[in-house]
Amino acid sequence: MRAVINTPDGIRTAEVDDPGEPGGQWVRLDVAAAGICGTDALLAGAGLGGFVYGHEFAGVDEAGRAWFVEPAIYGGQCAQCRSGNTQRCTEDGHGHLGVFRDGGMAEAVVVPEYTLLALPAGLDVKDACLVEPGAVAWHALTRAQVRPGERLLVVGGGTIGLLAAAAARHRGLEADLEARHAHQLAAAELLGAGRPSGAYDVVIDAAGSASSLARAAEAAVPGGRILPLGVYLETMPVPGSAVSQVKELTYVNSIAYGRHNGVREVEQVASMLAAEPEIAKSLITHRFSIEDAREAFRVAADRQAGAIKVVIEPGPTTRS
Ligand SMILES: [Zn+2]
Repeated sequence: MRAVINTPDGIRTAEVDDPGEPGGQWVRLDVAAAGICGTDALLAGAGLGGFVYGHEFAGVDEAGRAWFVEPAIYGGQCAQCRSGNTQRCTEDGHGHLGVFRDGGMAEAVVVPEYTLLALPAGLDVKDACLVEPGAVAWHALTRAQVRPGERLLVVGGGTIGLLAAAAARHRGLEADLEARHAHQLAAAELLGAGRPSGAYDVVIDAAGSASSLARAAEAAVPGGRILPLGVYLETMPVPGSAVSQVKELTYVNSIAYGRHNGVREVEQVASMLAAEPEIAKSLITHRFSIEDAREAFRVAADRQAGAIKVVIEPGPTTRS
């Protein structure tokens, strides 16, 4: 079957072994769409390969039922898993599909049954890959304990930043968003996010750079909370004493998503996307067939091209 892998020559589409027919608690899906994440670009740029890329994906089973795949792989037995924090699983083999193990940028996948989430009515299987980054943003809002009436700023207008603003609004919170590019600001406006002004109780850095984290600290009120939500390789460039200590800022970390009071965060986000179809319309800017994966990755990395979320559709019907 066709799949997206990384090689010494870069990201490309190649013939790989078919995952076969599953047994036991495993399910085979034909992948409808898989999103390209900034993390994929980082992994590809670092030369990491040996697995099929893609941790944001949804597909259809043999019976024609559509499923989102929560790509988290966890044991379910450790103290963290039992408390709902499956994203902090400490058991052997925990991780994510599409990160050092085969993921969803392929014609077909075989995944554990426990990863599946049935799509609510109103959420197209070709838009459902947004559930994954949406859950990252949703979990960050929960971790930051943003309360109604607090002022929230999101720094960064990529997929995660825009989804954080959309999720905040869906949860009855006000959010402003600061972004570099005109197409990101246009999407933010469509999603109801305001332009930045004044200081903020909570700032989410969804850009993930030293300058964006500095901007987040600068925009926070004394005593404010900063949530670094980018990927900071090697060290996290937290601004020094003159800002972080003088303002007594709290830095709250967040990774992936899990469960709260037994409810899967991916399920809450799927409901949001089903109820607010304009979110997917605003965020998914490009769709490519699986054969054009290399070009899809190039466009995803090119902010000037107007890309927000770029999606690869392995299925036979591709919309443009
Ligand atoms: Zn565990």
